[in-house]
Amino acid sequence: MEDTLLVVNCGSSSLKLALYDRQMHCLASALAERLGSSDAFGRLDANDQRHQIEIPAPGDHDAALAALIQQLRTLQLLQGQPRAVGHRVVHGGESFTDAARITPEVVDAIERCAALAPLHNPVNLVGIRATQALFPEVPQVAVFDTAYHQSLPEHAYLYALPQRFYQEWGVRRYGFHGTSHQFMAGEAARILDKPLSETSIISAHLGNGCSITAIRDGQSVDTSMGLTPLEGLVMGTRSGDLDPGLFEFLGGKGLSPAEINRLLNQDSGLLGLSGETNDMRTLTELAANGHRQADLAIEVFCFRLARYVGAMTASLTQLDALVFTGGIGENSALVRTRTVAHLQLLGLSLDNNHNDRHGRDNQHHIEHADSRFPILVIPTNEERVIAQSALNHS
Ligand code: ADP
Repeated sequence: MEDTLLVVNCGSSSLKLALYDRQMHCLASALAERLGSSDAFGRLDANDQRHQIEIPAPGDHDAALAALIQQLRTLQLLQGQPRAVGHRVVHGGESFTDAARITPEVVDAIERCAALAPLHNPVNLVGIRATQALFPEVPQVAVFDTAYHQSLPEHAYLYALPQRFYQEWGVRRYGFHGTSHQFMAGEAARILDKPLSETSIISAHLGNGCSITAIRDGQSVDTSMGLTPLEGLVMGTRSGDLDPGLFEFLGGKGLSPAEINRLLNQDSGLLGLSGETNDMRTLTELAANGHRQADLAIEVFCFRLARYVGAMTASLTQLDALVFTGGIGENSALVRTRTVAHLQLLGLSLDNNHNDRHGRDNQHHIEHADSRFPILVIPTNEERVIAQSALNHS
C-alpha cells in the first residue's frame, strides 16, 4: 500500500518502527535491540502474531532497518513505498516549534542541536539517513520532543545563571515528551468537550522517563524536564531534581563527571532508591509483600510528582483537568492514589472504583464527585502522533 505511514524511532542501541494506515490504525510495530553488538535481535508484531527477526551482521541501525522493512514486505503490509516517514528527533533546540519536512537545511539544524543531545540527535540522524537511502523519493518528516515546549515564556525556561550561558551556549530549559503532552492536550479537550484553545491542563507523562507539563489554552507554558531529560520528576533510573552542590561533593569523593552522569541517568530514580528494579509493576508487588525500600521508592516518586503538580499551578489561571498518562500513569492506581493524597489542599480527590479501573469505565474520569477539578487517565500514543505529523507535513 502506498497509503501507509512509517514511524522510525532510533535510540542509541535500539530501533523502533511502526506502520500506520491513513486512518491511523497501527498495522505493525517492531523493535530491534542490542544494536551495535553481535547479539542484536528484532521482533515484529502484526495481526496478533509476533515474528522474531534476525539482524544480519554488522547488526547496526542500517541492518536492523533493512531487516524490519523486509519483514513488512514479506507480510505484505508494506508494498511499494510508504506515503511518508516520520522520525522522532529528540532535540530541536530553538530552531523548531513544530514538526518539519526534512531538507538538507533541517538536517544541518538537527546536527547543530546535537551538542545539546549528544546521545540522541546523532543516532536520530542515522535513522533519517538510512531511511532516506531506502526510500529516496518519500517525504521524511522530523517530529521533535522539544518543539511543543517552545511556547514556554522566558521566566519559565531561563535558569538563574549568568545570561551568557544561555546566549552563547543555549543553556536553558527545553523540555521533552512534547508529542505526548500535545496529544494529551488535544485528547483532554475532546473528552471535556472544549475548544483546545480554551483548555488548560496539567499533564503527567509517567513512563520510564517522566515529565509533567502545564498547558494553558492549549499551549505548553511550563514543564519539568530541562536542558536534558534528567531534570524534574523521579524516573525509572534517573534522579530528577537534586542539589547542584552534589556534583562537587561527589567529585570530592573521587567520582569523575562521566561516573556522576552515569549515576544520575542510569543508576538512580526508582532503581537506585529501591535497590531492586526500575519497573513500577515489580516495585508495587514487592511493596505489597512488605519490601520497605520498594515502598519508599514509590512514595518518593509520588511525593515529588505531587510537589510538581502544585508547582505547575503557578503557570495556570484555570485548571480543566489533571491528566495521567504513560505506562505508570495509565496503569498504576496506586501511584495515582498516593500522588493525589498529597493534593488535598488543591481540593483534588479520587473515586476509588473509577481509579481502580483506570477510568476505562467512566470515559477517562477518575475524580471523586467532590473533587474540585477533574482527573483523567488518557493512554498516550506518541507513534500515532508522529504518523499524523508525517502525514500533515508531507
Ligand atoms: P517508556 O517510557 O519506556 O515508553 P512506558 O510508558 O511503557 O515506558 O512505562 C513503563 C513503566 O510503566 C514501567 O515502570 C512499568 O512497570 C509501568 N507499568 C506498566 N504497567 C503497569 C501496571 N499495571 N502497574 C504499574 N506499573 C505499570
